[in-house]
Amino acid sequence: MSMEACVLNCPIKLCGIEEALSDAQNAIVSNKNYQIITINPEMIMNAQKNEAFFDILNNSDLNIADGVGVKIALRLQGIKQNQIRGIDFSRELIKLASEKNYKIAFLGAKEEVIQKAKENFLNKYPNLNFVYVRNGYFNSDEEIIQEIKAANPQILLVGLGSPKQEELILKLKTQLQGCAMVGVGGSFDVFSGIVKESPVIWRKLGLEWLYRTVCQPKRFKRIFPVLPLFLIKCIISTIQKKG
Ligand code: UDP
Repeated sequence: MSMEACVLNCPIKLCGIEEALSDAQNAIVSNKNYQIITINPEMIMNAQKNEAFFDILNNSDLNIADGVGVKIALRLQGIKQNQIRGIDFSRELIKLASEKNYKIAFLGAKEEVIQKAKENFLNKYPNLNFVYVRNGYFNSDEEIIQEIKAANPQILLVGLGSPKQEELILKLKTQLQGCAMVGVGGSFDVFSGIVKESPVIWRKLGLEWLYRTVCQPKRFKRIFPVLPLFLIKCIISTIQKKG
């Protein structure tokens, strides 16, 4: 039996990466569409003020704990859950696609980035069956949805940033057949080699967010009011529940 917890009313499955992967695989095998969200504190904070996004987080098929902030928030509730990095989960999905010969699609990032990401994965897994690869700069969602529907992938990675990627995946959910879909944020930038992944030591210290902010100072404004506010809200919510 798998367990679920909530952080500020957003459900998160308590599981390891293998279980999350096997859930995705089960969905593909049973021809179900499956929305996976790798949840971080920014998303949870966004859901507090954006009702449509709150609903997306509450109706998706699988939410996994990305972001060290989510791990800390769960720890405050007495729950031990390891962080499952979104980028690691995506790498595992791609490996699964190669092992099982699932049709795979990439949507997002700039044209040269997405093409390079595809090339890098094809070097690693020459049998990968790409049925669709497109950059993330387009005007009409409808056109993209029709293209993806025609390509009929079984695994779809969407890197448009949040909440855009989750909104598009929600629309796709009624259109596809047996596809596991996940929003990957800026992962294609890393897969292409254009953005460097944070060194392991920073990850181990739970400071990946700080490393990324230092490398891309534009993120500063995005992260800094949000992260402390998130933790304060989580502490208040935990105390209220106990009291
Ligand atoms: N992006 C895109 N289309 C857009 C806006 C953004 O494809 O209209 C891409 C952008 O190129 C980048 C990703 O979405 O690859 C967003 O990355 P970010 O670092 O903001 O996401 P995070 O990992 O923080 O969620």
